[in-house]
Amino acid sequence: MIQESLQARSRKTVVEMPRPARDVQLLAPYDAVSSLSAIRDLPRGSVPLKLDWNESSIPPSPKVIEAITGFLSNGHHLNWYPELGAPKVRAALSAYTGVRPDSILVTNGSDDALDLVCRSFLDPGDDVVVAWPTYGHFLIFARARGVQPRKARSADPFAGSTPALLDALRPDTKLVYLPSPNNPTGIVTPPQDVAALCRAFPGTLFLVDEAYHEFSGITSAPLVAACPNLVVTRTFSKCFGIAGLRVGYLMTGPYVMEQLSKLYNPKSVNALAQVGAVAALADVDGREAYVAQVRAARDLLSSELRRRGAEVKAAQGNFINVRVRDPQAFCSALESVGVFVRDRSHLEGFEGWVRITVGTLSQMHDLVERVDRLLAESPTLLSPPAAR
Ligand SMILES: *Cc1c(COP(=O)(O)O)cnc(C)c1O
Repeated sequence: MIQESLQARSRKTVVEMPRPARDVQLLAPYDAVSSLSAIRDLPRGSVPLKLDWNESSIPPSPKVIEAITGFLSNGHHLNWYPELGAPKVRAALSAYTGVRPDSILVTNGSDDALDLVCRSFLDPGDDVVVAWPTYGHFLIFARARGVQPRKARSADPFAGSTPALLDALRPDTKLVYLPSPNNPTGIVTPPQDVAALCRAFPGTLFLVDEAYHEFSGITSAPLVAACPNLVVTRTFSKCFGIAGLRVGYLMTGPYVMEQLSKLYNPKSVNALAQVGAVAALADVDGREAYVAQVRAARDLLSSELRRRGAEVKAAQGNFINVRVRDPQAFCSALESVGVFVRDRSHLEGFEGWVRITVGTLSQMHDLVERVDRLLAESPTLLSPPAAR
């Protein structure tokens, strides 16, 4: 019966696939290239150096594994929904950040926080400004809302973002995306500048992405108590070593929080992620030791590469950038010795630059040894582009 009626109907209409939303039609798939499959294909016994996505280069604190295994020993923990709004993570984060618990929202990775802000605040055609070059995923969240972000750019991509933002901002700008330290540059925007911008543009929402905060030690988080138009996001994916669990959070004042809580899904942070995040926060010594080591390794890697003729920019994240003549060839050469880095050279104004995640000291020594092996074959591997 139903078959016949459906057949009759489909004969009358031109068959056409359902169209995605107007703003989605304009998007290309996110060019997320994961090295994980290449890593799985490596010959047995070879040690990969996964230095492409700025994750922690070592597993999380053993306390995280212990807490999650303990939690899993009770099967009921999985058939029930997680605790709504991750209250234990929030409480632990309040102690960690000094920000009130009701000013913190825990999300499914900080990507989810960025998306939530875009979905809650952006209308098609709104003016959005990003500190350029920057983290690509934010652009997708904005474009999905029918927004074409404008780039606040300086001639030098490693210059501070504030002058370029001041040039680009208009009174009707709805939102500014400002990672600090920025990715891929590692440049920090001083909290004084963030406070001044928030005051000068009260109708603009400032979204400060502090994914790499722990490596810089500089934060705008305390400003959320005084600046109602500020949102600060952070993640557990970088120094906490649980990128695979997907936990992030945002901090903001009561007005923005009220708007965000309309679309926020309180079930979106899964139970294992909640348990893992609380345990990760509790291991203060482990985290501080890792961060201190990454900072030392950042200096070591930069100076070793410079000694070999490379042009290196090291700033405040767990990564550095190297400018080379042929970024693609450079990345494939590294891949041939099991090293995975991120070619960022196609970003406008960032031509020639390749980003390398900084791990532990021994991993960076290992990296330098592998680079030396490559240099023996191709001595110009690290050479910067010829002067223009
Ligand atoms: C890595 C990164 C993120 C992603 O964080 P998740 O919490 O894993 O979603 C967000 N912002 C910037 C700037 C990043 O570099």
